[in-house]
Amino acid sequence: MDNFYAPGRNHLFVPGPVNIPEPVIRAMNRNNEDYRSPAVPAMTKTLLEDVKKIFKTTTGTPFLIPTTGTGAWESALTNTLSPGDRIVSFLIGQFSLLWIDQQKRLNFNVDVVESDWGQGANLDILASKLAADAAHTIKAICIVHNETATGVTNNLVKVRKLLDQYGHPALLLVDGVSSICALDFRMDEWGVDVALTGSQKALSLPTGMGIVCAGPKALEASKTAKSVRVFFDWNDYLKFYKLGTYWPYTPSIQLLYGLRAALDLVFEEGLENVIARHTRLGTATRLAVEAWGLKNCTQSEEWYSDTVTAVLVPPYIDSSEIVRRAWKRYNLSLGLGLNKVAGKVFRIGHLGNLNELQLLGCLAGVEMILKDVGYPIKLGSGVAAASAYLQNNIPLIPSRL
Ligand code: PLP
Repeated sequence: MDNFYAPGRNHLFVPGPVNIPEPVIRAMNRNNEDYRSPAVPAMTKTLLEDVKKIFKTTTGTPFLIPTTGTGAWESALTNTLSPGDRIVSFLIGQFSLLWIDQQKRLNFNVDVVESDWGQGANLDILASKLAADAAHTIKAICIVHNETATGVTNNLVKVRKLLDQYGHPALLLVDGVSSICALDFRMDEWGVDVALTGSQKALSLPTGMGIVCAGPKALEASKTAKSVRVFFDWNDYLKFYKLGTYWPYTPSIQLLYGLRAALDLVFEEGLENVIARHTRLGTATRLAVEAWGLKNCTQSEEWYSDTVTAVLVPPYIDSSEIVRRAWKRYNLSLGLGLNKVAGKVFRIGHLGNLNELQLLGCLAGVEMILKDVGYPIKLGSGVAAASAYLQNNIPLIPSRL
């Protein structure tokens, strides 16, 4: 029996963990297996090949690690860097803040570049730091592609261009936890050295698998990186990859079958169609916010996120009350404002295995809640703006053409 059961389906619109599609749930509903039998390595081999497609890499080496996004961060850092190494890291919201905290606790020398929450990474400061670093003391640039706390997407093409412009060899480590497999992401083309994501976000799986992909330069760096690592040591994985058994420790069999099913769904829809669907969901949400007369926390269009929208509320409303009420009255889960923006924003997650009509249900719910908390809203205004756009832009379902 569910805790706090409510009839119908919960409308899960937090920006992760997201809804798990039925075929994935069914694929995971199976017994344990011996991971040393020939079956599991055979499946793992195809997973490792196929997962590279969502990173858009042919040269990267993926690791499927029993962990979360936080562990994936640690894997990226400890395998490529040594204590004391200088890192330039962008602080733009709660998740970049947490990553920076981890970087400091792992004893790196973190050069923090802070922006207002709602803005993207300050690349002018990056340019000046690269220009001043002829001695190449900066060993890595750490950047969260999509800051889930504020709904800000950073422009990685510009970061790569700056590194190239200054001929700077720093590694580019990218948190793609709320972007990969939903937003345009191109590991090889953008020269990303390590990219990572978590299973509970765009892949729409349960939490519990961190997916880290290391490019050739990062693998090379791992040979000399002196950070202590045990559980996350890429070398242990690589040893078993060579042997063809793949696993240094016990994988979750159910998650592996889930990943198989999740990737199959992505490929059936087509990765480009998945990305285009997220563009529609993001655009529709932003149109609704505008129609409600509310502001997006993201301060400029260039950073708009197609996976999460953080909505600013007027000062007389506590956004946490919106989130509480959404769950209590409408069986709708929205994201809280975190840290600096707590009470000021609520977040609508629109990522993963989600369609436009589901989103319209969420937007209708948000309208009623806004009215509940005293915001002067015309019911239906956001839904009308979003559906007018969607009606013109939803293509036929790829498998039903
Ligand atoms: N990075 C980003 C951008 C996130 O949104 C999150 C979690 O929401 C994390 C990292 C941390 O991931 P986890 O909670 O799976 O450890």
